[in-house]
Amino acid sequence: MNLAQNLPPPARGYRGRFAPSPTGPLHAGSLVAALGSWLDAKKNGGQWLLRIEDLDGPRCIPGADQEIMRQLLACGLVWDEDVTWQSQRQASYLKALEVLNQAKCLYPCGCSRQTIAKTLAAKGIATPRNQELVYPGTCRPNQTTLNDLSQQGVALRLALPGDLQIEFADQALGIQHENLVSGVGDFVLRRNDGLFTYQLAVVVDDAQQGITNVVRGADLLSNTARQIHLQQLLNYPQLDYLHLPLVLDAHGEKLSKQTLAMPIQTHNAQSALQALQQAAQHLGLQNLPSRSSLSIAEWLLAATQAWKNQTA
Ligand code: GLU
Repeated sequence: MNLAQNLPPPARGYRGRFAPSPTGPLHAGSLVAALGSWLDAKKNGGQWLLRIEDLDGPRCIPGADQEIMRQLLACGLVWDEDVTWQSQRQASYLKALEVLNQAKCLYPCGCSRQTIAKTLAAKGIATPRNQELVYPGTCRPNQTTLNDLSQQGVALRLALPGDLQIEFADQALGIQHENLVSGVGDFVLRRNDGLFTYQLAVVVDDAQQGITNVVRGADLLSNTARQIHLQQLLNYPQLDYLHLPLVLDAHGEKLSKQTLAMPIQTHNAQSALQALQQAAQHLGLQNLPSRSSLSIAEWLLAATQAWKNQTA
């Protein structure tokens, strides 16, 4: 069955993406993000790209990227265009950093998490474990145009203006507001070990790949305001966002490799279909056919229609 024949022509050149970090195989939670982003692209007659976010080498598992691709293909979630790997795109991130440096938006910072926590504690601000700390601006007086961006051993932070309220409309969650100054503080774009951060890389890649729509898990919602601010600074178009409900485990924790989420089973068409059905249920898709004789392509077509009805 040719899915494309049954779908509308591209509406304003929709380009979506799925951007997994290869820290393990796909689990039920990451399949929801893959399926949701694929359905939204297909509903809009658009393209769906696959980008492997392997910037943080030590966290990546060798071979996980290949396994993710194999699982996606087994589920019939076929990407358009060549796959990109962030680890091969360092030059683009450096260029973006240079633009921000020329605009005097960066400063070097040698503060450890412990130093930051101490500074905050001295100001009477609690620093809960596992939570990002609002940077108190200790190294901000260093803000200037840096001569040498390759300097190792210090992080590079983005200096925010005095007050920065970002507002955007999430297609699922409605209007969102975030004050970046009080909620996040000057954030890191390159870590002290020389790695570019997710915030910078994702913004550069989305823009350079011509992405128009980001559909991803709600755990990433709190990154969106930072990404919109970077898009504005770098003169990139702002994207449309849709954050999907998270899959939680029995303890109410987000499924992840840390919570030992099980990989989805895709060794045959029937198990892949079951994994897709579970993901669709999580997305709230109604009236999907469940005949065992159904092919994955037929099921995906019905799911695209159901997504269309649900998000109309
Ligand atoms: N690589 C991120 C993750 O796996 C997703 C990034 C994004 O969709 O913006 O959580």
